[in-house]
Amino acid sequence: MKKQKICIIGDGLSGLTAALALSNLDIEVDFIIKNIQEKKTSDPRITAISQSNFKFLIKYLDKKDAKLFWSCKKINLFYEKINYLYNFINFSENHKNLLYIIKNNDLKKIFLKKIKSKKNIKIINKEVKKVDTKNTCILLGKKSYVYDLILLCVGRSSKIISEFVGKRYIQKDDKEIALTSMVSHNINISDPRQYFLKEGPLAILPINEKNFSFVWSVSNKLKTINTKDLVYNKLKKILGNKTNINLNEIVTFPISFKFNSIFSKNNSLVLGDGSYNVHPVAGQGFNLIIRDIIKLFQFIEYNQSLGLPIRDSEIIKKFVSSRKPENLLFGLGINLTNSFFKQNKITSPIKDFILKDINKFNFLKEISIKISDKGIFQSLK
Ligand SMILES: Cc1cc2nc3c(=O)[nH]c(=O)nc-3n(C[C@H](O)[C@H](O)[C@H](O)COP(=O)(O)OP(=O)(O)OC[C@H]3O[C@@H](n4cnc5c(N)ncnc54)[C@H](O)[C@@H]3O)c2cc1C
Repeated sequence: MKKQKICIIGDGLSGLTAALALSNLDIEVDFIIKNIQEKKTSDPRITAISQSNFKFLIKYLDKKDAKLFWSCKKINLFYEKINYLYNFINFSENHKNLLYIIKNNDLKKIFLKKIKSKKNIKIINKEVKKVDTKNTCILLGKKSYVYDLILLCVGRSSKIISEFVGKRYIQKDDKEIALTSMVSHNINISDPRQYFLKEGPLAILPINEKNFSFVWSVSNKLKTINTKDLVYNKLKKILGNKTNINLNEIVTFPISFKFNSIFSKNNSLVLGDGSYNVHPVAGQGFNLIIRDIIKLFQFIEYNQSLGLPIRDSEIIKKFVSSRKPENLLFGLGINLTNSFFKQNKITSPIKDFILKDINKFNFLKEISIKISDKGIFQSLK
């Protein structure tokens, strides 16, 4: 059989992960990157990767790259009461690592370095203007290129995606933004924390004991005020007034829950933020994407083991029916969690009652850890 050829468009975390993982199969990959020269200094985010997803990724990286990940064995959750922060739940699992935290820029750098070393990946530095899903081909300049499979990893605001999906999506837009930045400090913080504050959830993700990144989801109305002062004062309140804090420039990201009803057409498949966006409160966006890529890898590998082609096969159908329900459930569950913690005079007494003893329910904590690690269906097996 002729060597199968796939095209991966977009070099965000989805495209890079797909290229890195799928290039380990017996296929050729064209990896299309926009504006490689001016790349990509400006992603200030940090990503927390679950234990099983980390195990999948690290197989494809160099041993020394593992040092860039900060591993964490505990996660503590707090709820803001009138005068204090109530630590209502602590997650840990027999001293096992729960999360691996890394700067997005470092992750992209090590992925790209590895991709460049692969003989079966051709990196093409061009913007794709058109994808012809009927003939599984793309237009680059005046030339068109035909593939067995096209993966669109072009993010949430790409024109290609809006043409692909049209108006077929569900969306819940609470008019929120995520504020994020790096913080250095003089105390020791080695594990992640999530604070459900009256303005919205604030996650602290350490990259070492003296530096962390935070993601604070707040109403977009706060964008007009001095966010640096707001964040500084809030962090002082959380970490104690005596703590010295050094705050980098704050960057904002739009957030909303969006789920496209169309993931695929013929032999083209959308992966990553182009297919769904989940609220960052649970740090699950990229983790869902990694699970999607693991599934796609398994389906292609299985087809290849039977000597079947990728093009016009059952791969995309099987992928969509296995991943779409899980991703939708996850997105809705995360939204529900976010709504539950919103401060409200009527529901607060019920919330206080639920949260009071929740830390004693070990089975609930075990299930939550499993689901965040492996996803819903995999952890029920
Ligand atoms: C504040 C915040 C914090 C987060 N924290 C976490 C976390 O802790 N854990 C977690 O799991 N997830 C997290 N997420 C989610 C995660 O960051 C995203 O899901 C992920 O980065 C999406 O990557 P992507 O590749 O799909 O999209 P993008 O990052 O948008 O990448 C798309 C790429 O496609 C390229 N492109 C677009 N159009 C074309 C074209 N026509 N031709 C060629 N290239 C093109 C663009 O240049 C870009 O590089 C967070 C999200 C936010 C907003």
